[in-house]
Amino acid sequence: MSQVVYITLEERSTPNPTDGIPKTQSNWIHPNLIESVDPVKGRQLRASEHIPKGTCVLVDHPYAIISVVDDPATNDDLICSNPACNRRSPRHPGRFSCSNSCIADVTWCSTTCRDADKARHDFECTWLKRYADPIRTKRGEYDFGMLWMIVRLLASRHTEPEPQEYNVATTSQRCKRGWAGIESLCGSVDTWPHQHVRLWTTLVKKYLQNSPVLPHGLSADSVLHLICQEEANSFGLYPRETGIFPPPQPPVDRGEQFAAAVYPTAAMANHSCIPNMIHKPDEDGRMIFTASRDILAGQECCISYFDLTKFTNLASRREHLRKSFKFTCQCDRCISEEPAEETNDWDSMPLMDI
Ligand SMILES: [Zn+2]
Ligand SMILES: [Zn+2]
Ligand SMILES: [Zn+2]
Repeated sequence: MSQVVYITLEERSTPNPTDGIPKTQSNWIHPNLIESVDPVKGRQLRASEHIPKGTCVLVDHPYAIISVVDDPATNDDLICSNPACNRRSPRHPGRFSCSNSCIADVTWCSTTCRDADKARHDFECTWLKRYADPIRTKRGEYDFGMLWMIVRLLASRHTEPEPQEYNVATTSQRCKRGWAGIESLCGSVDTWPHQHVRLWTTLVKKYLQNSPVLPHGLSADSVLHLICQEEANSFGLYPRETGIFPPPQPPVDRGEQFAAAVYPTAAMANHSCIPNMIHKPDEDGRMIFTASRDILAGQECCISYFDLTKFTNLASRREHLRKSFKFTCQCDRCISEEPAEETNDWDSMPLMDI
């Protein structure tokens, strides 16, 4: 799409890492990328065999995605609401809004997309029309985005085919797909500080109860659990790569966020401040993971949860991760940058010369 700015960086893999993976394939996992469980870190992605630098290792279709833009009525970065499309939907040559006039953030790139998305959007439309404005006014954009994402997760669940209808022949079956994949995400009321859980409990009671406006059939506790999972696992979508290390000089940040999404498989990737994968959404909202260096058999495959051109020193990285992701980073880079207590042996920093 013309509005996405691609910046060429040295040693970029050529050709495009997703070449050879059909556009119609919504989910794809490299045969050498496996899910495993670490006794300390829990679920993670790992290389079963060597993965060369530049290899596309994951293509993951969002289970739910929302636009996150200022002033949606005049913004060209809105995405098409049809989950089978998710393309940017600029004002020109034309985009199509809801016939029930719910919110300006909901738009489709064509009437074909709008028709195809009818059942899913009908699930959220009444809720959006009733609650979007009051939530935005009383609670702000962040809480609105979070609650709308929950509604979209529930809408996808509402419209997804029965599990037995999935094609079991695809490689993606190595990881759980669909609602089963969402249910298996990490995150619970014990993961989050009490004040967060209290606020979310109030929001569920006020805006997300099972009702004719939102007929999801789940208990309030189940929806609260879903918020705990969503907050621990959702991705911001940015136009450029996240996780290039070392950051290019002069620094090129990842650009303005235009969407947020929950990806069942990509969510399993843990964070490292010296990641071996970069991630970036493609023009269909699919999350693409690419090996940014050779990954050896047995190594964990990690992404960076934040823009590495920001928070460049140990203290700022740890503070950001603690504040936003509720953990203290113990990645190789952070450990190597910890002040030495007894010796000042800088030769013991093997990770800095990558
Ligand atoms: Zn579309
Ligand atoms: Zn609508
Ligand atoms: Zn770290």
